[in-house]
Amino acid sequence: MRLLLVEDDPMIGEGVHLGLTQEGYATDWVKNATAAESALTAGAYDLMLLDLGLPGRDGLALLRTLRIQGAVLPVLILTARDGVADRVAGLDAGADDYLVKPFDLEELFARIRALLRRQAGRAEPQLRHGALSLDPVHGAVTMAGRTVLLSAKEFAILQALLHRPGLPLSRGQLEQHVYSWKEAVDSNAVEVHIHALRRKLGAGWILNLRGVGYYVPAEPPVA
Ligand code: CA
Repeated sequence: MRLLLVEDDPMIGEGVHLGLTQEGYATDWVKNATAAESALTAGAYDLMLLDLGLPGRDGLALLRTLRIQGAVLPVLILTARDGVADRVAGLDAGADDYLVKPFDLEELFARIRALLRRQAGRAEPQLRHGALSLDPVHGAVTMAGRTVLLSAKEFAILQALLHRPGLPLSRGQLEQHVYSWKEAVDSNAVEVHIHALRRKLGAGWILNLRGVGYYVPAEPPVA
């Protein structure tokens, strides 16, 4: 999952960026509305965390513009403005949720998970596909009830693939899901993770459509 953090306060930005990265989200951090627009044009993000009080154009104006342009990604507003009018304005401008500073990182993570779930059209937190089950809350994967130990990147790749079984994701799309700007990506990094996942999950779980990408079959293999 790849997130865009828009926050001009260096202390809050650093804390949230570090927390999200440690939580396994590929997170890019920008400090104003213009940089946020460039990032959204260049990359595919699963969710945006948006501060309202930004230098120059404020977060509310950015959000209105994005929604008018048809951007559908979930937006979670992070702001010190705790007045009811500000919350209402944020939600009316197209935000999906609202968190007032200072907030607890655990609560932020829980809200992000809820928004990503809703975005994927699911109410249930677990991703299940046949004998395979992925729990985003605890970062755990089980196959027929047995724990499968995955690295953070393997977990992120599997999560991206399990969101839409049957739909191939290209190497570039997987890199976008899994790596932030700051991380150097080896040209064969995704292949290495896919190889490890296949070894750990067993044959038939991750297939390759030549020249298109990788996918989890819509009909899950029998474990
Ligand atoms: Ca601010």
